[in-house]
Amino acid sequence: MSTCFAGLSIVASLGTPKPSSASARPRLIRNAPVFAAATAVVGMDAVERLKSGFDKFKTDVYDKKPELFEPLKEGQAPRYMVFACSDSRCCPSVTLGLQPGEAFTVRNIAAMVPPYDKTKYTGIGSAIEYAVCALKVEVLTVIGHSRCGGIKALLSMKDGAPDNFHFVEDWVRIGFLAKKKVLTNHASVPFDDQCTLLEKEAVNVSLYNLLTYPWVKEGVANGTLKLVGGHYDFVNGVFSVWEK
Ligand SMILES: [Zn+2]
Repeated sequence: MSTCFAGLSIVASLGTPKPSSASARPRLIRNAPVFAAATAVVGMDAVERLKSGFDKFKTDVYDKKPELFEPLKEGQAPRYMVFACSDSRCCPSVTLGLQPGEAFTVRNIAAMVPPYDKTKYTGIGSAIEYAVCALKVEVLTVIGHSRCGGIKALLSMKDGAPDNFHFVEDWVRIGFLAKKKVLTNHASVPFDDQCTLLEKEAVNVSLYNLLTYPWVKEGVANGTLKLVGGHYDFVNGVFSVWEK
């Protein structure tokens, strides 16, 4: 089967045995460029693309908005913490127009928030702790998206089948309860529609998991924190948002 995230098509059979070495990992094949066509400056080196991208940002944005960037030199006070997928097609700063300094952001496969666990999820836990306890963000938002490869992988996984990747399956299993709910309540729905439902249910599981972090639970209880779910459908150009 073929799944896709982070701008790569990953050709993999999720039912095949776990590879024994790095060289045996699933083959990665570059997608045809989509809106990365903007980067398709013929002959331009990849590093030059980054340099010219910054030059354009510096001229068009940074130099023209000192009122935005000057205060940020002293510190940040973002209102939002955003969890979004690593997928190259759904950068929340671009799609939601979030300005530098507005959103403390974590991106990972399928925009998952795992439950509180000091041994397994220190990266996510530390980001949430810093955002809530130090930066005092007001809103925690988790944003799923259409055609999410991580969600498709979660829905495709068969019970008891060995993992094919070192990390991917274990990570997306965070959304297992959402998968169970979708398969129970929408058993006869076509696979692609189940994926769409799961993209949103997985957000709800992540919002629920956020409440396992003590400072989040406390903030929600005393009204200083709000939990918000979102879904960006880039096929139809629709953004949905809901409060928990
Ligand atoms: Zn995704």
